[in-house]
Amino acid sequence: MGVPRRHFDCLVIGAGGGGLRSALQLARGDAHVAVISKVFPTRSHTVAAQGGMNAALGNTLPDDWHWHMFDTVKGSDYLGDQDAIEYMCRAAPSIVIEMEHYGVPFTRLENGRIYQRAFGGQSQNFGGDQAARTCAAADRTGHAMLHSLYQQNLRAKTHFFDEYFAVDLLMDDEGYAVGALALEVETGEPLVIEARTTLIATGGNGRMYRTTSNALINTGDGMAMALRAGIPLQDMEFYQFHPTGIAGMGALISEGVRGEGGYLVNSDGDRFMEKYAPSAKDLASRDVVSRAIATEVRGGRGCGRKKDFVYLKVDHLGADIIKKRLPGIRESAIRFAHTDPIDEPIPVYPTAHYVMGGIPTDRFGQVVVPVAHGPEEPVPGLYAVGECACVSVHGANRLGGNSVLDIVVFGRAAGNHMLGYMAENRYQRPVPESSVEKAMVTLTRWDQRGDGESVDELCGVLRKTMEDYCGVFRTQEILDDGVKRVLDLERRLEHVRLRDHSKVFNTARIEALELGNLMDVAVATVVSAAARKESRGAHSRPDYPKRDDKNWLKHTLFTKEGYKLDYKPVRMKPLTVESFPPKERVY
Ligand SMILES: Cc1cc2nc3c(=O)[nH]c(=O)nc-3n(C[C@H](O)[C@H](O)[C@H](O)COP(=O)(O)OP(=O)(O)OC[C@H]3O[C@@H](n4cnc5c(N)ncnc54)[C@H](O)[C@@H]3O)c2cc1C
Repeated sequence: MGVPRRHFDCLVIGAGGGGLRSALQLARGDAHVAVISKVFPTRSHTVAAQGGMNAALGNTLPDDWHWHMFDTVKGSDYLGDQDAIEYMCRAAPSIVIEMEHYGVPFTRLENGRIYQRAFGGQSQNFGGDQAARTCAAADRTGHAMLHSLYQQNLRAKTHFFDEYFAVDLLMDDEGYAVGALALEVETGEPLVIEARTTLIATGGNGRMYRTTSNALINTGDGMAMALRAGIPLQDMEFYQFHPTGIAGMGALISEGVRGEGGYLVNSDGDRFMEKYAPSAKDLASRDVVSRAIATEVRGGRGCGRKKDFVYLKVDHLGADIIKKRLPGIRESAIRFAHTDPIDEPIPVYPTAHYVMGGIPTDRFGQVVVPVAHGPEEPVPGLYAVGECACVSVHGANRLGGNSVLDIVVFGRAAGNHMLGYMAENRYQRPVPESSVEKAMVTLTRWDQRGDGESVDELCGVLRKTMEDYCGVFRTQEILDDGVKRVLDLERRLEHVRLRDHSKVFNTARIEALELGNLMDVAVATVVSAAARKESRGAHSRPDYPKRDDKNWLKHTLFTKEGYKLDYKPVRMKPLTVESFPPKERVY
């Protein structure tokens, strides 16, 4: 087949913080690196991160990386792998300084040190007083990080394929990753990119839900590519709803607002978090705050005409703090909620935000799969980092400020490991024609025009179904119904036809490919959720209200073929310190 080919040492799919940090490590290690991104790199979702990045610098209150580690393990509801968590929390202080040297203009204290704000789930001394661990560049931290990393990559001569859509991974017969098939968005031409190592860094899948803080591009493409390559997805039932999306539309109001002293009130004007988390209150972990808001609204104490949201009160902070520390959030509130937080509270409700699950990896970013009768093994040449990966540092619930940390820590680690892998695997393995043909089938699957199912409509139904049947609270009945409905939608994909307008044809193809990816990931999510009969972190089951460590302290693995579920143990043993055994989780 005559698909044109390009050749590189490394292919990085995705130009968010995770992809760019890995690419930088590789380019500086003298590797020939290609980064492909379906949008211009600096439009990746990392740009939207507002609140900041965690590191135990101890600049405003005492801190210690052991405390950060404890909070992360507890926040994960003990499902996080403690080796990876230790690695991340120990690396955090030095990686913040590194980001600063790359050009991130962190907000300062009077004494010149980096300012740190309080975020949910942060404590001093293993569960004591509130800590302040989040480093921020005002409320535009992700923006500063992404632009700095992009510029560093330009300087290091990383090769960018802007607006190329990765369709599928290319694997050889022995199971080595050998590159990917991509589509040039502008022309619609396919391109094979051959590489000795491939890294997936395609971000999250928040568009699976109707109300979400995620950008249009967050459609889980990399996770679906892994599924189609026979790689299972881990812990997909754990999806985080951020407590404070702007009511009715989902745009995010950062946890930083509560970190600066904002708090939630119901229609009676009560500060209700005192009831649900007496000590941490509004800065309890996200799963806890989201459930509290949903419970208040269900109990008839919601605000507004339909009583379907609560208020986030900020005006008491004063105009100065709001303008200085939360300028972007004020702008969002004015634009999307027509509310100036200097004068009025912001109407908020939980919004789909972050996927804790993803492509299973070890702490070097290597994608690992189970093998019969033995421990899991890496897929040679294949890596994953960032929101699409599950390393797993977030377990059943991510703490705010830990994701932009995760992406740079493991981005760097994966880059280093890839350099080592390439020193041992010096030659490109041939790309089999059969794998290109298989990927071309994915690409052309929905290329038919005419009458049939519309991509838009099917996508809308999928997002509403996921919201209704796999949301903040889930029971067996609701989930079983959800599985049936999503599988039914998956069957309807076969009948998708594209609109017959040649000008929009390429965009329509991309939207169809994205819908296919969202569908694969939605099936993984709802099937995994229906199987887990306990409440842990973000997976909240009123019919199984307790965490069940005896039966469920384990990771889920969902395989596309046969919608099969397997489980694997949590890595409870850290690298150098004592393990944190499961305890009751109260805030
Ligand atoms: C509104 C918002 C605010 C947030 N605030 C914070 C915060 O304050 N602190 C924190 O720790 N976390 C925060 N998060 C979470 C955090 O920002 C993300 O989890 C993280 O930035 C993801 O980085 P990433 O590199 O994995 O992916 P992304 O930044 O999402 O980048 C994904 C990349 O993959 C590319 N891509 C995807 N599919 C394809 C394809 N098929 N072909 C080619 N390219 C593809 C995209 O073009 C993009 O370049 C926030 C998230 C949101 C949505």
